[in-house]
Amino acid sequence: MTIRTSLSDEVGTMLAVSCEDRVDYDSLRALPAFRHQRAFLDQLLDDDGDDAMFSLDGFCVPCGRPSTFRLNRRPLFAAETSGPNWREGLHCEGCGMNNRIRSMAWITERVAGERERPQIYATERRTAFYDWLATRYGEGVVGSEYLDPTVEPGRVVDGIRHEDVERLSFDDAKFDVVVSMDVLEHVNDPARAIEQIARVLKPEGELLLSVPFFAGSPSNIRRSQILDGEVVHHLPPEYHGASPPGQGWLVFWDFGWELVDEFRARFASVELVVYWSRQYVHLGPNLYFFRCVRGTS
Ligand SMILES: [Zn+2]
Repeated sequence: MTIRTSLSDEVGTMLAVSCEDRVDYDSLRALPAFRHQRAFLDQLLDDDGDDAMFSLDGFCVPCGRPSTFRLNRRPLFAAETSGPNWREGLHCEGCGMNNRIRSMAWITERVAGERERPQIYATERRTAFYDWLATRYGEGVVGSEYLDPTVEPGRVVDGIRHEDVERLSFDDAKFDVVVSMDVLEHVNDPARAIEQIARVLKPEGELLLSVPFFAGSPSNIRRSQILDGEVVHHLPPEYHGASPPGQGWLVFWDFGWELVDEFRARFASVELVVYWSRQYVHLGPNLYFFRCVRGTS
């Protein structure tokens, strides 16, 4: 395990620790900085009374200024038995981005900042994160949504580009950075998507990716599948997102460590980064993202 990225400046500190495998990960969880997290979080909630909404002050990296972050104590998704959902909460009052999305802005700035006029692809377009990225990096940024399976990848419909991560329309080696947040668990064939993302990255290009990750599970568990054009459920269907109510995006996979092997098949370096920051208000158990670097050829 390496404490590879720890940023301290006048506004805050981000503790970000990279693990390569489950043994690394287990030793990491034993570090005092992470061991005491749970107690710290319980204390935070206790100190603030019983209102459903809870707020904390800190510094928002995408906004570039101090802000207030709000968290609902109640569960967010139907499948959750208890709240709060730290990862999907702690929305910044300024930009509206939640905990998970703000941390992706943080790592994107650090990775893209090392490159001149970076070409960046985000697997989202109608989001505050995309707007931030486009403002920050200008014409080098491409964003897309998954609009409809009948639309040809690369087509623009009402100003929005359609892409399917299993068959991206971009040329090989086009991007310095690909950012993908909570998309892969909704994909029928993630190995194919990983292959496609590696293909469109330049040599030494980086994939920054988040998914709900089940660190206690060695394997990936398939919840749903597309067979002969029909969706088959192997487990009770689970959905993310709120629209339409009770539906949203179907979850195809619960990812465990097998996902790391799938990244390693296509990337020279793969790290699971576990992070925590009181000042940037990245709080909660189980905050992770993946950082995968393509080889030199
Ligand atoms: Zn903000």
